[in-house]
Amino acid sequence: MKTVPEYFGSMVFNDVTMRARLPKETYKALKKTMRDGKKLDPQIANIVANAMKDWAIEKGVTHFSHWFQPMTGVTAEKHDSFISPFGEDGVIMEFSGKELVRGEPDASSLPSGGIRSTYEARGYTTWDPTSYAFIKDNVLCIPTAFCSYNGEALDKKTPLLRSMECISKQALRVVKLFGNENVTTVKTTVGPEQEYFLIDKKYYDKRIDLQYCERTLFGAAPPKGQELEDHYYGTISPRVSAFMAELDKELWKLGVLAKTEHNETAPAQFELAPIFTTANISCDHNQITMELMKKLAPKHGMVCLLHEKPFAGVNGSGKHNNWSLTTNLGDNLLEPGETPHENAQFLLFLCAIIRAVDDYQELLRISIASAANDRRLGNSEAPPAVVSIFLGDEITAILDSIESGTAYEQSDKKQLKVGVHTLPRFPKDNTDRNRTSPLAFTGNKFEFRMVGSNDSIADANIVLNTTIAESLRVYADKLEGADNFADALHELIKNEIKEHKRIIFGGNSYDDEWAKLAAQRGLACLQTTPDAIARFLDEKNIALFETHKVFSKAEMVARHRLMSERYCKVINIESKTMVEMLQRDLMPAISKYSLEMSKAADYFKTPDETKFGYENSVAVKLRTLLDDVYILVDELDKRIRTVEAIEDITKRTFGYKDRIIPLMDRIRIYIDEAETLTAREYWPYPTYGEILSGC
Ligand code: ADP
Ligand code: MG
Repeated sequence: MKTVPEYFGSMVFNDVTMRARLPKETYKALKKTMRDGKKLDPQIANIVANAMKDWAIEKGVTHFSHWFQPMTGVTAEKHDSFISPFGEDGVIMEFSGKELVRGEPDASSLPSGGIRSTYEARGYTTWDPTSYAFIKDNVLCIPTAFCSYNGEALDKKTPLLRSMECISKQALRVVKLFGNENVTTVKTTVGPEQEYFLIDKKYYDKRIDLQYCERTLFGAAPPKGQELEDHYYGTISPRVSAFMAELDKELWKLGVLAKTEHNETAPAQFELAPIFTTANISCDHNQITMELMKKLAPKHGMVCLLHEKPFAGVNGSGKHNNWSLTTNLGDNLLEPGETPHENAQFLLFLCAIIRAVDDYQELLRISIASAANDRRLGNSEAPPAVVSIFLGDEITAILDSIESGTAYEQSDKKQLKVGVHTLPRFPKDNTDRNRTSPLAFTGNKFEFRMVGSNDSIADANIVLNTTIAESLRVYADKLEGADNFADALHELIKNEIKEHKRIIFGGNSYDDEWAKLAAQRGLACLQTTPDAIARFLDEKNIALFETHKVFSKAEMVARHRLMSERYCKVINIESKTMVEMLQRDLMPAISKYSLEMSKAADYFKTPDETKFGYENSVAVKLRTLLDDVYILVDELDKRIRTVEAIEDITKRTFGYKDRIIPLMDRIRIYIDEAETLTAREYWPYPTYGEILSGC
């Protein structure tokens, strides 16, 4: 049997393979392209493509595919075989540089938000040579970006790459100010911790809500939920263990650095954390991870749910997006340093993040907005919908001292002067005590915890990168022209803290008091997706993305439309599924059981013909519930049709939010109560108790 180091990356055309299979000159040229993000010379592309093809064929591969991430949030691929006619009746296996570098998928059915008119619907894909090609299901997959003929981004990778470029450019200007002349690029590094549920497939197959919506629309709370806290880090069952082992193995073959797997807080909930890597690769890897989770679970008789809130009253799933910046020399720019000089640079980057989060709270909220995440955020288990930043006591005290010019207690009561004094050392662990903050500093990186489990991490990182790049741009503009750098730096940091400290919050973000305080501080309280996305096209946001060339206004308009449409579609599917479950399964079941009980009540009736007692009481209760539900379902059905017809897309999102969701939530209360009154054998669906303890 092969050991992990032997098969790690075996399905990836990675550096080791390239070195072994490419002529030295080609290898060097390709590496240079990867490093500088330049265009690949066509001749070199031909050699690379050929080597890739030979390598893949040796592994039994017959097809290749440009693998890309359209705005659906999942990945897309179109398979082409390597075969090419040869002679009279023969074929040869071919793969040209042109095919490697550029593809033209007929992707007219993929969402564009109105960017493409149908006659130019094709769009094209271009290889992202910084992300290795890999083999999946016997297909050679080339990670690509997907754009329209006019170069407008139609995917999640293109703007992510652009945002990485813009933050590198601005961060470079800043590190140069600190005399770091050898730094040539600054990379965004990301490690996303992925949460998910595993449930028994036999239960999944019996619930159309899980099949259509990936969440339960009904379900009474089980007698035992997560209150005993016995699942978190608990022993992993043999079936789940086998799944995790297979998942790890498949991920490792694909070069994904899957590191930690454990039980999460909720029953049937788990987490996989990878080791961090460059943002675009991390994003690709996260997509592969989600895809494999979904694909492998059924082999173990289970289904993997990535929905943010599959079960009401049970913790939902998120994806903690750990984010930092690293120079090409390997220095993490969010690592507090040893010298006053390094510390000053660290503090300036810290301020850049604080400023970005404060100035662009709405964008961060939008970057993780979805109908599903709305159900997760702010439920005393996930960060609230209000964005704030947590720095830990030590750093907060340091910033306070700089801002007010007062002594910092732990530094011999000296006043801290940026660039002159060394910051006191603070233990890394100490900084991560707050698990409730949306964006927490965890010693040498930031952890953005609002991202939903099902989301691509691209959006969140596009916003983090671009907004922080903007802070750095402003700082570099100011400091590059300063007469006295040290003084200007100290003043700048001091002012930035004063200006933006309202976004810093060290308390319990789950507390209702925080919501009030946040409103007093003037922070954006965008509770739902429609509230949030209505702010996407604010002038300020358009200016930001245009300045840094991450999105054009047209691209933003398209994305806004897609986010809105997506929200409407999701709620539309949920509400229709709810109506179907009610009309075809639930109401008939309740009716049947209440009839059964009323018959029994008749049978057991007392001599004076009054009906009382158990059977009668249940029958009456269920009947009353059913009559109420019947009226509400009728109303829901009508409202769906009215809201569907709203022309204006933004108004339509609010239609779903204000008219459909509250009614669905109301109906659910009745049905969940009916569930607790109905005999098990009559209830048409597996219960929460069964589903959540099934693995
Ligand atoms: P935990 O949050 O569970 O305490 P860690 O802090 O060790 O665990 O790491 C959590 C995640 O953060 C991991 O995916 C890890 O790879 C990632 N991470 C660590 N350092 C960085 C960094 N510099 N940039 C981005 N992600 C990082
Ligand atoms: Mg963590």
